[in-house]
Amino acid sequence: MGLIDKIRAPKKEGAANEELDRWKQKYYNQLEKRDSLKLLNVKNDELYRQTLNRLCLVVRGVHLDLDPHLLKIRKQLKNGISSADLAHLLEAFSQALLNFDDTLKKPVAEQSTSLLFDFLMTQDYSAETIEAVSALCEQFESGKLADTTELITLINKLFSSATLEIDETSAKLSGLAANLDVHTVSEQFIELIQGLDVPDTCQKQASKIVKALKEKQTEENFVKNIDAALMLLQELKKNSQHEKKEMEVFLSLVTQQLTSLASGTTGANNLYEEMQIQKKIFDQALDEKVQALQDHSENATKLEPLKELIQDELVALRTQIQTHKKEEKVRTKKTQQQFARMNSEMESMKKETQELEANLKKASTQALVDQLTQLPNRLAYEQHFDIEFARWKRNGESLSLLVWDIDLFKSINDTYGHAAGDKTLIIIASLLQKYCRQTDFVSRFGGEEFTMLLSNTDKKSAQILAEKIRRIIEKTSFTYGSKKISITISCGIADLEEGDIQDKIFNRADKALYAAKKQGRNCSVVA
Ligand code: GH3
Ligand code: MG
Ligand code: MG
Repeated sequence: MGLIDKIRAPKKEGAANEELDRWKQKYYNQLEKRDSLKLLNVKNDELYRQTLNRLCLVVRGVHLDLDPHLLKIRKQLKNGISSADLAHLLEAFSQALLNFDDTLKKPVAEQSTSLLFDFLMTQDYSAETIEAVSALCEQFESGKLADTTELITLINKLFSSATLEIDETSAKLSGLAANLDVHTVSEQFIELIQGLDVPDTCQKQASKIVKALKEKQTEENFVKNIDAALMLLQELKKNSQHEKKEMEVFLSLVTQQLTSLASGTTGANNLYEEMQIQKKIFDQALDEKVQALQDHSENATKLEPLKELIQDELVALRTQIQTHKKEEKVRTKKTQQQFARMNSEMESMKKETQELEANLKKASTQALVDQLTQLPNRLAYEQHFDIEFARWKRNGESLSLLVWDIDLFKSINDTYGHAAGDKTLIIIASLLQKYCRQTDFVSRFGGEEFTMLLSNTDKKSAQILAEKIRRIIEKTSFTYGSKKISITISCGIADLEEGDIQDKIFNRADKALYAAKKQGRNCSVVA
Protein backbone atom coordinates (compact mmCIF):
# COMPACT_ATOMS: atom_id res chain seq x y z
CA MET A 1 0.00 0.00 0.00
CA GLY A 2 1.40 3.45 -1.00
CA LEU A 3 1.67 6.44 1.28
CA ILE A 4 -1.31 8.28 -0.23
CA ASP A 5 -3.49 5.17 0.12
CA LYS A 6 -2.41 4.84 3.70
CA ILE A 7 -3.35 8.37 4.62
CA ARG A 8 -6.61 7.93 2.81
CA ALA A 9 -7.38 4.67 4.72
CA PRO A 10 -10.70 4.53 6.69
CA LYS A 11 -10.76 7.04 9.54
CA LYS A 12 -10.43 5.97 13.13
CA GLU A 13 -12.64 7.81 15.55
CA GLY A 14 -11.76 10.62 17.96
CA ALA A 15 -9.26 13.47 18.26
CA ALA A 16 -6.56 11.41 16.69
CA ASN A 17 -8.45 11.47 13.38
CA GLU A 18 -8.75 15.28 13.36
CA GLU A 19 -5.05 15.54 14.03
CA LEU A 20 -4.41 13.08 11.23
CA ASP A 21 -6.57 15.18 8.85
CA ARG A 22 -4.64 18.32 9.73
CA TRP A 23 -1.22 16.94 8.91
CA LYS A 24 -2.62 15.26 5.82
CA GLN A 25 -3.72 18.72 4.57
CA LYS A 26 -0.31 20.16 5.41
CA TYR A 27 1.31 17.39 3.48
CA TYR A 28 -0.86 18.02 0.40
CA ASN A 29 0.01 21.73 0.56
CA GLN A 30 3.68 20.84 0.57
CA LEU A 31 3.20 18.62 -2.46
CA GLU A 32 1.49 21.44 -4.39
CA LYS A 33 4.22 23.93 -3.54
CA ARG A 34 6.86 21.53 -4.69
CA ASP A 35 5.07 20.97 -8.01
CA SER A 36 4.80 24.69 -8.78
CA LEU A 37 8.49 25.16 -7.92
CA LYS A 38 9.35 22.32 -10.27
CA LEU A 39 7.38 24.03 -13.04
CA LEU A 40 9.24 27.30 -12.42
CA ASN A 41 12.51 25.45 -12.61
CA VAL A 42 11.60 23.84 -15.94
CA LYS A 43 10.50 27.21 -17.40
CA ASN A 44 13.71 28.94 -16.32
CA ASP A 45 15.80 26.13 -17.68
CA GLU A 46 14.07 26.48 -21.07
CA LEU A 47 14.68 30.25 -21.02
CA TYR A 48 18.42 29.80 -20.39
CA ARG A 49 18.67 27.27 -23.18
CA GLN A 50 16.99 29.68 -25.62
CA THR A 51 19.32 32.51 -24.62
CA LEU A 52 22.34 30.26 -25.03
CA ASN A 53 21.11 29.22 -28.44
CA ARG A 54 20.76 32.87 -29.53
CA LEU A 55 24.21 33.72 -28.26
CA CYS A 56 25.70 30.80 -30.16
CA LEU A 57 24.04 32.10 -33.32
CA VAL A 58 25.44 35.60 -32.84
CA VAL A 59 28.98 34.43 -32.11
CA ARG A 60 29.04 31.87 -34.95
CA GLY A 61 31.56 32.61 -37.70
CA VAL A 62 33.68 34.92 -35.55
CA HIS A 63 36.46 32.46 -35.02
CA LEU A 64 36.98 29.21 -36.84
CA ASP A 65 38.17 27.43 -33.69
CA LEU A 66 35.02 28.37 -31.80
CA ASP A 67 32.53 27.29 -34.44
CA PRO A 68 32.72 23.52 -33.81
CA HIS A 69 31.99 24.20 -30.10
CA LEU A 70 29.08 26.47 -30.95
CA LEU A 71 27.71 23.91 -33.40
CA LYS A 72 27.97 21.20 -30.77
CA ILE A 73 26.29 23.33 -28.09
CA ARG A 74 23.41 24.22 -30.44
CA LYS A 75 22.99 20.62 -31.58
CA GLN A 76 22.92 19.35 -28.00
CA LEU A 77 20.54 22.10 -26.91
CA LYS A 78 18.22 20.97 -29.70
CA ASN A 79 18.49 17.35 -28.60
CA GLY A 80 17.69 18.22 -24.97
CA ILE A 81 21.05 17.91 -23.23
CA SER A 82 21.19 17.54 -19.42
CA SER A 83 22.40 20.55 -17.44
CA ALA A 84 25.50 18.71 -16.24
CA ASP A 85 26.53 17.84 -19.83
CA LEU A 86 25.76 21.39 -20.92
CA ALA A 87 28.06 22.69 -18.20
CA HIS A 88 30.82 20.47 -19.66
CA LEU A 89 30.25 21.81 -23.16
CA LEU A 90 30.35 25.38 -21.88
CA GLU A 91 33.56 24.63 -20.06
CA ALA A 92 35.09 23.31 -23.30
CA PHE A 93 33.89 26.48 -25.04
CA SER A 94 35.42 28.68 -22.34
CA GLN A 95 38.67 26.76 -22.72
CA ALA A 96 38.60 27.39 -26.48
CA LEU A 97 38.13 31.08 -25.75
CA LEU A 98 41.05 31.11 -23.34
CA ASN A 99 43.15 29.69 -26.19
CA PHE A 100 41.83 32.41 -28.48
CA ASP A 101 45.01 34.48 -28.44
CA ASP A 102 47.20 31.46 -29.12
CA THR A 103 45.06 30.47 -32.08
CA LEU A 104 45.33 33.94 -33.57
CA LYS A 105 49.08 33.53 -33.62
CA LYS A 106 48.77 30.34 -35.68
CA PRO A 107 49.53 30.70 -39.38
CA VAL A 108 46.33 31.20 -41.33
CA ALA A 109 46.85 28.13 -43.54
CA GLU A 110 47.11 26.02 -40.40
CA GLN A 111 43.77 27.35 -39.17
CA SER A 112 42.13 26.61 -42.51
CA THR A 113 43.43 23.06 -42.56
CA SER A 114 42.41 22.47 -38.97
CA LEU A 115 38.90 23.44 -40.05
CA LEU A 116 39.18 20.91 -42.86
CA PHE A 117 40.25 18.19 -40.43
CA ASP A 118 37.45 19.06 -38.02
CA PHE A 119 35.03 18.72 -40.87
CA LEU A 120 36.40 15.39 -42.16
CA MET A 121 36.48 13.85 -38.70
CA THR A 122 32.85 14.63 -38.01
CA GLN A 123 31.68 12.85 -41.19
CA ASP A 124 30.12 9.38 -41.25
CA TYR A 125 33.20 7.50 -42.43
CA SER A 126 34.35 4.09 -41.26
CA ALA A 127 36.48 3.93 -38.10
CA GLU A 128 39.60 3.13 -40.22
CA THR A 129 39.06 6.15 -42.46
CA ILE A 130 38.60 8.45 -39.47
CA GLU A 131 41.77 6.98 -37.96
CA ALA A 132 43.65 7.57 -41.21
CA VAL A 133 42.40 11.19 -41.35
CA SER A 134 43.53 11.70 -37.77
CA ALA A 135 46.98 10.26 -38.60
CA LEU A 136 47.19 12.61 -41.58
CA CYS A 137 46.26 15.51 -39.34
CA GLU A 138 49.10 14.60 -36.96
CA GLN A 139 51.57 14.35 -39.83
CA PHE A 140 50.52 17.73 -41.15
CA GLU A 141 50.61 19.46 -37.76
CA SER A 142 54.03 18.09 -36.94
CA GLY A 143 55.30 19.57 -40.22
CA LYS A 144 56.04 16.24 -41.88
CA LEU A 145 54.24 17.24 -45.09
CA ALA A 146 55.76 19.69 -47.56
CA ASP A 147 52.70 21.93 -48.05
CA THR A 148 48.92 21.97 -48.36
CA THR A 149 49.13 20.62 -51.92
CA GLU A 150 50.76 17.44 -50.62
CA LEU A 151 48.12 17.29 -47.89
CA ILE A 152 45.27 17.55 -50.39
CA THR A 153 46.88 14.89 -52.62
CA LEU A 154 47.13 12.56 -49.62
CA ILE A 155 43.52 13.21 -48.59
CA ASN A 156 42.50 12.46 -52.14
CA LYS A 157 44.50 9.23 -52.13
CA LEU A 158 43.11 8.24 -48.75
CA PHE A 159 39.55 8.52 -49.97
CA SER A 160 40.33 6.69 -53.21
CA SER A 161 41.88 3.79 -51.25
CA ALA A 162 39.07 3.92 -48.71
CA THR A 163 36.77 2.82 -51.51
CA LEU A 164 38.74 -0.43 -51.81
CA GLU A 165 38.35 -1.24 -48.14
CA ILE A 166 34.60 -1.17 -48.25
CA ASP A 167 32.85 -4.50 -48.16
CA GLU A 168 31.54 -5.24 -51.62
CA THR A 169 28.63 -7.32 -50.33
CA SER A 170 27.09 -4.24 -48.82
CA ALA A 171 25.07 -2.70 -51.62
CA LYS A 172 24.57 0.54 -49.75
CA LEU A 173 28.26 1.00 -49.03
CA SER A 174 29.48 -0.07 -52.45
CA GLY A 175 27.28 2.64 -54.03
CA LEU A 176 29.03 5.13 -51.84
CA ALA A 177 32.43 3.67 -52.62
CA ALA A 178 32.04 4.25 -56.34
CA ASN A 179 31.87 8.00 -55.76
CA LEU A 180 34.25 8.38 -52.87
CA ASP A 181 37.08 10.17 -54.70
CA VAL A 182 37.81 13.62 -56.07
CA HIS A 183 34.09 14.17 -56.38
CA THR A 184 33.43 13.33 -52.72
CA VAL A 185 36.16 15.61 -51.42
CA SER A 186 34.92 18.39 -53.72
CA GLU A 187 31.39 17.91 -52.38
CA GLN A 188 32.71 18.20 -48.85
CA PHE A 189 34.51 21.42 -49.68
CA ILE A 190 31.37 22.82 -51.28
CA GLU A 191 29.43 21.92 -48.14
CA LEU A 192 32.16 23.49 -45.99
CA ILE A 193 32.15 26.77 -47.96
CA GLN A 194 28.37 26.92 -48.11
CA GLY A 195 28.19 26.29 -44.40
CA LEU A 196 30.40 29.32 -43.66
CA ASP A 197 29.22 32.87 -43.20
CA VAL A 198 30.86 34.37 -46.26
CA PRO A 199 30.79 38.20 -46.14
CA ASP A 200 29.52 40.08 -49.20
CA THR A 201 33.05 41.05 -50.18
CA CYS A 202 34.07 37.40 -50.63
CA GLN A 203 30.79 36.12 -52.09
CA LYS A 204 32.08 36.37 -55.66
CA GLN A 205 35.24 34.44 -54.87
CA ALA A 206 33.26 31.81 -52.94
CA SER A 207 30.72 31.23 -55.73
CA LYS A 208 33.53 30.95 -58.25
CA ILE A 209 35.23 28.25 -56.18
CA VAL A 210 31.97 26.40 -55.53
CA LYS A 211 31.21 26.53 -59.26
CA ALA A 212 34.68 25.20 -60.13
CA LEU A 213 34.33 22.40 -57.56
CA LYS A 214 30.94 21.44 -58.95
CA GLU A 215 32.33 20.97 -62.45
CA LYS A 216 33.86 17.67 -63.51
CA GLN A 217 37.56 17.96 -62.83
CA THR A 218 40.91 16.33 -63.35
CA GLU A 219 43.11 15.62 -60.36
CA GLU A 220 45.36 18.48 -61.40
CA ASN A 221 42.75 21.19 -61.41
CA PHE A 222 41.17 19.58 -58.34
CA VAL A 223 44.31 20.37 -56.33
CA LYS A 224 44.23 23.89 -57.76
CA ASN A 225 40.60 24.32 -56.76
CA ILE A 226 41.20 23.02 -53.25
CA ASP A 227 44.11 25.44 -52.95
CA ALA A 228 41.76 28.21 -54.03
CA ALA A 229 39.27 27.07 -51.39
CA LEU A 230 41.98 27.23 -48.72
CA MET A 231 42.94 30.69 -49.97
CA LEU A 232 39.31 31.72 -49.56
CA LEU A 233 39.35 30.50 -45.97
CA GLN A 234 42.46 32.63 -45.42
CA GLU A 235 40.69 35.58 -47.03
CA LEU A 236 37.73 35.10 -44.71
CA LYS A 237 40.13 35.21 -41.79
CA LYS A 238 41.68 38.46 -42.99
CA ASN A 239 38.28 40.01 -43.54
CA SER A 240 37.17 39.29 -40.06
CA GLN A 241 40.23 40.89 -38.40
CA HIS A 242 38.40 44.16 -37.77
CA GLU A 243 35.28 42.58 -36.37
CA LYS A 244 37.44 40.20 -34.41
CA LYS A 245 38.90 43.03 -32.30
CA GLU A 246 35.44 44.05 -31.25
CA MET A 247 34.45 40.45 -30.84
CA GLU A 248 37.41 39.70 -28.57
CA VAL A 249 36.14 42.20 -26.03
CA PHE A 250 32.60 40.97 -26.38
CA LEU A 251 33.62 37.32 -26.19
CA SER A 252 35.57 37.78 -22.99
CA LEU A 253 32.43 39.35 -21.54
CA VAL A 254 30.28 36.52 -22.82
CA THR A 255 32.70 33.98 -21.39
CA GLN A 256 32.44 35.50 -17.96
CA GLN A 257 28.69 35.55 -18.19
CA LEU A 258 28.37 32.09 -19.67
CA THR A 259 30.58 30.73 -16.93
CA SER A 260 28.52 32.43 -14.27
CA LEU A 261 25.32 31.32 -16.01
CA ALA A 262 26.60 27.76 -16.14
CA SER A 263 27.50 27.85 -12.47
CA GLY A 264 24.09 29.48 -11.81
CA THR A 265 22.31 26.66 -13.61
CA THR A 266 24.37 24.09 -11.76
CA GLY A 267 23.64 25.91 -8.47
CA ALA A 268 19.91 25.98 -9.15
CA ASN A 269 20.00 22.37 -10.15
CA ASN A 270 21.90 21.40 -7.01
CA LEU A 271 19.29 23.18 -4.93
CA TYR A 272 16.54 21.44 -6.80
CA GLU A 273 18.22 18.06 -6.40
CA GLU A 274 18.69 18.74 -2.70
CA MET A 275 14.97 19.49 -2.44
CA GLN A 276 14.18 16.21 -4.16
CA ILE A 277 16.41 14.27 -1.77
CA GLN A 278 14.86 15.99 1.26
CA LYS A 279 11.41 15.20 -0.09
CA LYS A 280 12.34 11.51 -0.45
CA ILE A 281 13.68 11.36 3.13
CA PHE A 282 10.58 13.11 4.40
CA ASP A 283 8.25 10.78 2.46
CA GLN A 284 10.09 7.75 3.76
CA ALA A 285 9.89 8.91 7.39
CA LEU A 286 6.21 9.65 7.00
CA ASP A 287 5.61 6.28 5.38
CA GLU A 288 7.33 4.49 8.26
CA LYS A 289 5.38 6.42 10.87
CA VAL A 290 2.00 5.70 9.24
CA GLN A 291 2.96 2.05 8.86
CA ALA A 292 3.94 1.86 12.55
CA LEU A 293 0.68 3.50 13.60
CA GLN A 294 -1.31 1.09 11.51
CA ASP A 295 0.57 -1.94 12.85
CA HIS A 296 -0.04 -0.78 16.42
CA SER A 297 -3.74 -0.17 15.89
CA GLU A 298 -4.20 -3.54 14.16
CA ASN A 299 -2.41 -5.42 16.91
CA ALA A 300 -3.73 -3.39 19.88
CA THR A 301 -5.76 -5.20 22.50
CA LYS A 302 -6.28 -2.22 24.84
CA LEU A 303 -7.54 1.21 23.83
CA GLU A 304 -5.74 3.47 26.39
CA PRO A 305 -2.11 2.55 25.61
CA LEU A 306 -2.97 2.73 21.88
CA LYS A 307 -4.42 6.24 22.26
CA GLU A 308 -1.29 7.34 24.13
CA LEU A 309 0.97 5.89 21.52
CA ILE A 310 -0.94 7.56 18.70
CA GLN A 311 -0.81 10.90 20.52
CA ASP A 312 2.96 10.63 20.91
CA GLU A 313 3.46 9.68 17.30
CA LEU A 314 1.28 12.56 16.09
CA VAL A 315 3.26 15.07 18.16
CA ALA A 316 6.47 13.72 16.66
CA LEU A 317 4.99 13.89 13.19
CA ARG A 318 3.87 17.49 13.66
CA THR A 319 7.37 18.50 14.76
CA GLN A 320 8.84 16.69 11.79
CA ILE A 321 6.49 18.43 9.32
CA GLN A 322 7.24 21.81 10.86
CA THR A 323 10.99 21.32 10.63
CA HIS A 324 10.66 20.13 7.05
CA LYS A 325 8.51 23.14 6.17
CA LYS A 326 11.06 25.56 7.64
CA GLU A 327 13.92 23.98 5.75
CA GLU A 328 11.88 23.94 2.56
CA LYS A 329 11.16 27.67 2.95
CA VAL A 330 14.90 28.44 3.18
CA ARG A 331 15.68 26.29 0.14
CA THR A 332 12.84 27.85 -1.89
CA LYS A 333 14.07 31.34 -1.06
CA LYS A 334 17.59 30.42 -2.06
CA THR A 335 16.40 28.97 -5.39
CA GLN A 336 14.31 32.03 -6.14
CA GLN A 337 17.25 34.34 -5.42
CA GLN A 338 19.41 32.26 -7.71
CA PHE A 339 16.84 32.49 -10.51
CA ALA A 340 16.43 36.24 -10.03
CA ARG A 341 20.20 36.72 -10.32
CA MET A 342 20.35 34.59 -13.46
CA ASN A 343 17.44 36.47 -14.99
CA SER A 344 19.14 39.82 -14.54
CA GLU A 345 22.36 38.40 -16.00
CA MET A 346 20.43 37.20 -19.01
CA GLU A 347 18.85 40.60 -19.45
CA SER A 348 22.26 42.29 -19.60
CA MET A 349 23.54 39.64 -22.02
CA LYS A 350 20.54 40.27 -24.25
CA LYS A 351 21.33 44.01 -24.26
CA GLU A 352 24.98 43.42 -25.12
CA THR A 353 24.01 41.04 -27.91
CA GLN A 354 21.79 43.69 -29.44
CA GLU A 355 24.53 46.33 -29.18
CA LEU A 356 26.97 43.98 -30.84
CA GLU A 357 24.57 43.25 -33.67
CA ALA A 358 24.18 46.99 -34.28
CA ASN A 359 27.96 47.53 -34.23
CA LEU A 360 28.59 44.71 -36.67
CA LYS A 361 26.00 46.12 -39.04
CA LYS A 362 27.64 49.53 -38.83
CA ALA A 363 31.10 48.06 -39.46
CA SER A 364 30.00 46.17 -42.56
CA THR A 365 28.37 49.33 -43.99
CA GLN A 366 31.50 51.37 -43.24
CA ALA A 367 33.63 48.91 -45.20
CA LEU A 368 31.97 50.12 -48.42
CA VAL A 369 32.06 53.88 -47.74
CA ASP A 370 34.91 56.35 -48.24
CA GLN A 371 35.32 58.06 -44.89
CA LEU A 372 36.44 61.46 -46.24
CA THR A 373 33.77 62.10 -48.90
CA GLN A 374 31.13 59.62 -47.69
CA LEU A 375 30.85 58.37 -51.28
CA PRO A 376 30.88 54.62 -52.00
CA ASN A 377 34.51 53.46 -52.17
CA ARG A 378 36.37 51.39 -54.73
CA LEU A 379 35.17 48.10 -53.25
CA ALA A 380 31.57 49.30 -53.51
CA TYR A 381 32.24 50.38 -57.09
CA GLU A 382 33.57 46.92 -57.96
CA GLN A 383 30.57 45.23 -56.41
CA HIS A 384 28.18 47.56 -58.18
CA PHE A 385 29.99 47.13 -61.47
CA ASP A 386 29.68 43.34 -61.22
CA ILE A 387 25.93 43.66 -60.79
CA GLU A 388 25.65 46.05 -63.76
CA PHE A 389 27.96 43.87 -65.85
CA ALA A 390 25.80 40.80 -65.21
CA ARG A 391 22.68 42.80 -66.09
CA TRP A 392 24.31 43.99 -69.33
CA LYS A 393 25.17 40.39 -70.20
CA ARG A 394 21.56 39.42 -69.61
CA ASN A 395 19.71 42.21 -71.37
CA GLY A 396 22.41 44.00 -73.41
CA GLU A 397 21.33 47.50 -72.32
CA SER A 398 24.18 49.98 -72.68
CA LEU A 399 26.34 50.91 -69.72
CA SER A 400 28.87 53.77 -69.63
CA LEU A 401 31.78 54.33 -67.31
CA LEU A 402 33.20 57.77 -66.57
CA VAL A 403 36.59 58.04 -64.89
CA TRP A 404 37.22 61.50 -63.40
CA ASP A 405 40.54 62.93 -62.21
CA ILE A 406 41.03 66.38 -60.66
CA ASP A 407 43.53 68.46 -62.63
CA LEU A 408 46.83 69.40 -60.99
CA PHE A 409 45.51 68.45 -57.61
CA LYS A 410 48.99 68.02 -56.19
CA SER A 411 49.58 71.76 -56.55
CA ILE A 412 46.50 72.47 -54.38
CA ASN A 413 47.99 70.36 -51.61
CA ASP A 414 51.40 71.96 -52.11
CA THR A 415 50.07 75.52 -52.18
CA TYR A 416 47.26 75.49 -49.66
CA GLY A 417 47.99 72.44 -47.55
CA HIS A 418 46.56 68.97 -47.20
CA ALA A 419 43.46 70.14 -45.30
CA ALA A 420 42.51 72.39 -48.22
CA GLY A 421 43.04 69.40 -50.54
CA ASP A 422 40.68 67.33 -48.40
CA LYS A 423 38.05 70.07 -48.46
CA THR A 424 38.31 70.21 -52.27
CA LEU A 425 37.78 66.44 -52.49
CA ILE A 426 34.65 66.71 -50.34
CA ILE A 427 33.20 69.52 -52.47
CA ILE A 428 33.97 67.82 -55.79
CA ALA A 429 32.48 64.57 -54.50
CA SER A 430 29.26 66.34 -53.56
CA LEU A 431 29.09 68.11 -56.95
CA LEU A 432 29.57 64.84 -58.84
CA GLN A 433 26.86 63.26 -56.74
CA LYS A 434 24.50 66.22 -57.03
CA TYR A 435 24.61 66.65 -60.81
CA CYS A 436 24.41 63.06 -61.97
CA ARG A 437 21.13 61.17 -62.20
CA GLN A 438 19.52 59.23 -59.35
CA THR A 439 20.23 55.96 -61.14
CA ASP A 440 23.95 56.70 -61.67
CA PHE A 441 26.52 55.29 -59.30
CA VAL A 442 29.34 57.62 -58.16
CA SER A 443 32.33 56.42 -56.17
CA ARG A 444 35.66 57.70 -54.95
CA PHE A 445 37.92 55.25 -56.73
CA GLY A 446 41.04 56.44 -54.91
CA GLY A 447 43.05 59.64 -54.29
CA GLU A 448 41.58 62.37 -56.51
CA GLU A 449 39.94 59.93 -58.90
CA PHE A 450 36.23 59.25 -59.10
CA THR A 451 34.13 56.86 -61.19
CA MET A 452 30.58 57.12 -62.42
CA LEU A 453 28.54 54.22 -63.78
CA LEU A 454 25.68 55.32 -66.01
CA SER A 455 23.20 52.55 -66.60
CA ASN A 456 21.16 52.45 -69.80
CA THR A 457 23.43 55.13 -71.33
CA ASP A 458 25.79 54.91 -74.33
CA LYS A 459 29.08 56.79 -74.46
CA LYS A 460 27.71 59.67 -76.56
CA SER A 461 24.93 60.49 -74.09
CA ALA A 462 27.44 59.93 -71.30
CA GLN A 463 29.67 62.67 -72.72
CA ILE A 464 26.79 65.17 -72.69
CA LEU A 465 26.36 64.55 -68.94
CA ALA A 466 30.15 64.60 -68.40
CA GLU A 467 30.49 67.95 -70.14
CA LYS A 468 27.64 69.44 -68.08
CA ILE A 469 29.32 68.36 -64.83
CA ARG A 470 32.79 69.43 -66.02
CA ARG A 471 31.51 72.96 -66.75
CA ILE A 472 29.76 73.20 -63.36
CA ILE A 473 33.02 72.32 -61.60
CA GLU A 474 34.98 74.75 -63.76
CA LYS A 475 32.62 77.57 -62.78
CA THR A 476 32.54 76.72 -59.08
CA SER A 477 34.85 78.97 -57.10
CA PHE A 478 36.74 77.38 -54.26
CA THR A 479 37.98 79.59 -51.44
CA TYR A 480 41.05 78.98 -49.33
CA GLY A 481 41.35 81.62 -46.63
CA SER A 482 40.72 84.83 -48.54
CA LYS A 483 41.78 83.41 -51.91
CA LYS A 484 39.37 82.27 -54.57
CA ILE A 485 40.66 79.75 -57.06
CA SER A 486 39.13 77.63 -59.74
CA ILE A 487 39.54 73.91 -60.08
CA THR A 488 39.07 71.80 -63.18
CA ILE A 489 38.57 68.12 -63.73
CA SER A 490 39.15 65.77 -66.67
CA CYS A 491 37.10 62.78 -67.70
CA GLY A 492 37.61 59.58 -69.70
CA ILE A 493 34.49 57.88 -71.08
CA ALA A 494 33.86 54.34 -72.34
CA ASP A 495 30.89 52.03 -72.70
CA LEU A 496 30.52 48.27 -72.70
CA GLU A 497 31.24 46.65 -76.04
CA GLU A 498 30.43 43.25 -77.48
CA GLY A 499 32.81 40.60 -76.10
CA ASP A 500 33.97 42.78 -73.18
CA ILE A 501 35.32 41.12 -70.09
CA GLN A 502 35.09 42.83 -66.71
CA ASP A 503 38.22 45.10 -66.64
CA LYS A 504 38.32 46.11 -70.28
CA ILE A 505 35.89 49.01 -70.02
CA PHE A 506 37.88 50.53 -67.16
CA ASN A 507 41.11 50.33 -69.14
CA ARG A 508 39.46 52.07 -72.11
CA ALA A 509 38.00 54.84 -69.94
CA ASP A 510 41.37 55.26 -68.17
CA LYS A 511 43.18 55.58 -71.50
CA ALA A 512 40.62 58.20 -72.61
CA LEU A 513 41.29 60.08 -69.35
CA TYR A 514 45.02 60.01 -70.09
CA ALA A 515 44.24 61.44 -73.55
CA ALA A 516 42.16 64.22 -71.92
CA LYS A 517 45.14 65.12 -69.72
CA LYS A 518 47.37 65.16 -72.78
CA GLN A 519 44.95 67.44 -74.61
CA GLY A 520 45.48 70.06 -71.91
CA ARG A 521 43.08 68.92 -69.11
CA ASN A 522 39.61 70.31 -68.23
CA CYS A 523 37.97 68.26 -70.97
CA SER A 524 36.35 64.89 -71.58
CA VAL A 525 37.42 62.29 -74.11
CA VAL A 526 35.41 59.34 -75.37
CA ALA A 527 37.30 56.09 -75.88
P1 GH3 B 1 47.00 65.55 -63.05
O1 GH3 B 1 46.26 66.73 -63.56
O2 GH3 B 1 47.94 64.99 -64.06
O3 GH3 B 1 46.07 64.50 -62.55
O4 GH3 B 1 47.88 66.05 -61.86
P2 GH3 B 1 47.68 65.78 -60.33
O5 GH3 B 1 48.54 66.70 -59.56
O6 GH3 B 1 46.25 65.81 -60.00
O7 GH3 B 1 48.13 64.27 -60.22
P3 GH3 B 1 49.14 63.58 -59.29
O8 GH3 B 1 48.88 62.12 -59.46
O9 GH3 B 1 50.54 64.06 -59.55
O10 GH3 B 1 48.77 64.03 -57.83
C1 GH3 B 1 47.63 63.58 -57.18
C2 GH3 B 1 47.68 64.11 -55.78
O11 GH3 B 1 46.53 63.83 -55.04
C3 GH3 B 1 48.85 63.58 -54.98
C4 GH3 B 1 48.24 63.21 -53.64
O12 GH3 B 1 49.00 63.74 -52.58
C5 GH3 B 1 46.88 63.86 -53.69
N1 GH3 B 1 45.92 63.11 -52.88
C6 GH3 B 1 45.51 61.85 -53.06
N2 GH3 B 1 44.61 61.51 -52.11
C7 GH3 B 1 44.44 62.60 -51.32
C8 GH3 B 1 43.62 62.89 -50.16
O13 GH3 B 1 42.87 62.05 -49.66
N3 GH3 B 1 43.72 64.13 -49.62
C9 GH3 B 1 44.54 65.08 -50.15
N4 GH3 B 1 44.56 66.26 -49.57
N5 GH3 B 1 45.31 64.81 -51.20
C10 GH3 B 1 45.26 63.62 -51.80
MG1 MG C 1 45.29 60.89 -60.43
MG1 MG D 1 44.93 64.54 -60.91
